[in-house]
Amino acid sequence: MATKPVILAVDDDREVLGAVERDLRRRYADRYRILTASSGREALDTVAQLGKRAGTVALFLVDQRMPGMTGIEFLREAQPHFPQALRVLLTAYADTQAAISAINDVGLHHYLMKPWDPPEERLYPVLDDLLSTWAAQWRPPFEGIRVVGSRWSPQSYAARDFLVRNQVPYQWIDIDEDSPTRALVTSIAGDSPRLPVVLFQDGSHQIAPSIAELAEKAGLHTLANRPFYDVVIIGGGPAGLANAVYAASEGLKALLIEQHAPGGQAGGSSMIENYLGFPGGVTGADLAQRAAAQALRFGAEMLVGLTVVGLRREDPYRIVTLSDGREVSAHTLVLATGMAVRELEVPGVAPLVGTGIYYGAAPSEAAMYRDQDVAVVGGANSAGQGALYFSRYAKSVTVLVRAPGLSPRMSRYLVDRIEATPNIRVLTRMELTEVRGEGRLEQICLRNADSGAAQSLDVRALFVFIGVSPRTEEFAKFVELDSKGFVLTGPDLPQPRRDWPLERGPLMFETSVPGVFAAGDVRSGANRRIAAAVGEGSAAIYSVHRYLQTV
Ligand SMILES: Cc1cc2nc3c(=O)[nH]c(=O)nc-3n(C[C@H](O)[C@H](O)[C@H](O)COP(=O)(O)OP(=O)(O)OC[C@H]3O[C@@H](n4cnc5c(N)ncnc54)[C@H](O)[C@@H]3O)c2cc1C
Repeated sequence: MATKPVILAVDDDREVLGAVERDLRRRYADRYRILTASSGREALDTVAQLGKRAGTVALFLVDQRMPGMTGIEFLREAQPHFPQALRVLLTAYADTQAAISAINDVGLHHYLMKPWDPPEERLYPVLDDLLSTWAAQWRPPFEGIRVVGSRWSPQSYAARDFLVRNQVPYQWIDIDEDSPTRALVTSIAGDSPRLPVVLFQDGSHQIAPSIAELAEKAGLHTLANRPFYDVVIIGGGPAGLANAVYAASEGLKALLIEQHAPGGQAGGSSMIENYLGFPGGVTGADLAQRAAAQALRFGAEMLVGLTVVGLRREDPYRIVTLSDGREVSAHTLVLATGMAVRELEVPGVAPLVGTGIYYGAAPSEAAMYRDQDVAVVGGANSAGQGALYFSRYAKSVTVLVRAPGLSPRMSRYLVDRIEATPNIRVLTRMELTEVRGEGRLEQICLRNADSGAAQSLDVRALFVFIGVSPRTEEFAKFVELDSKGFVLTGPDLPQPRRDWPLERGPLMFETSVPGVFAAGDVRSGANRRIAAAVGEGSAAIYSVHRYLQTV
């Protein structure tokens, strides 16, 4: 239920303040929260607290004559925080002139002469009238996490993307477009705050938090419940999630560690149309949420917002080091760290990532580019899905590909749909040579690969889908990789092996370290599809069971 809006009464005379409070409560306590303060300073503290908690002030009822800060001075300072609040001054006859000038000065709505007895005649009619007008235009505020940032701040983008992908509801407030919130943020974090500032409902805040800090405060699980597990799964994409579902459903104590959000690459897909059982397609976010819920329901644990930064073995145990320095041990590990989108290597990119250049589908951003011109670079299915998704919001979508056409790299059903979408155009044989913009993307520069002709396009966003590379940096010295950095498993491991300590050969999905398995896109030779990753993650548990019978 929404919190009631506040009536704040301020008077330095405690007896008068008690009388105001009593009269206000009698008439308004069912619809408003009545708060009091006995000085302008104390009242400003209350105002700041209310701002942090996303409260609403309906009415300031303030005595003019107070030592230290007059009523008008208080209203001037409080106004930027709650510009919609009614401002009513309690005055003595001698203050009439000051009250009249305050009508222009601080937009005073009314002034009341003290004393106001009987309130039925001299207080309530005035306040009833003002409050009914106010209530007619009031919309209850959003209750939950508020992310205050700039559209042009990469850190603000990262925080939003993290919350979206973890399905944490939040309200986005652009600091450049909301002056009350700007005043609140300035009072918390100074004149040029580091962004984003995240405001929580309990009144606390974080300034430019790390993903781990945000995850913890947003209530995502960041502490392992046990010191030891049967299996620790690293990565929460389709392979890791399937692994967790099968492990937990078969009675294993399983912990999944995901650095960003369940779903992995698939979680960023705007519409998956080739996954078994969803004839109408399913969004990556929906699939990820269903899979995570299923894993949790079977009893798997999931840590989100923490990166695995190292692995080591102390036989028979396998030990995982987390980015916050903690360690978790297990009998077995499954590496399901997938792939990361390859970075665009052209001049001008680095400062614009998150402020106009996005890797992948960036679901949190698409709606921000409503009615604007955007571009997509890449020619595979993920780029096609992205282009179709952005075409629902953007004025125009330009798809840039190096090849002479979209086929055969892109599936036919996507090519057909792109050709039938009027606000998508495809520029073939195009190479991106530079991106330009001051604090935000303004222009991209292109060169035709055949003729060498240069051209530029004014776009506000560029979504990059130019291929991926394995995420194995953390494990490079621990397990054996192929020449491209993918993890070698089972029969793909070079034979004979000198450093293999067991008489049996490696099991299916087992890496060069016994008891450490790999599944999904990160595995050498994997078929990089969601269904394949799910299949590998599920099947790898069979090998985990076989290994566990030997320890
Ligand atoms: C935009 C897009 C659209 C796609 N659409 C389709 C489609 O329609 N159909 C289809 O079949 N395939 C599609 N694919 C491919 C498919 O998504 C992948 O094949 C699949 O997601 C691979 O799953 P995975 O679990 O192996 O790895 P990933 O999905 O890459 O997941 C790996 C996870 O591990 C986490 N991680 C990595 N390193 C660490 C670490 N050190 N510590 C903790 N966590 C870590 C990552 O954050 C990530 O969440 C698409 C890919 C993209 C990018």
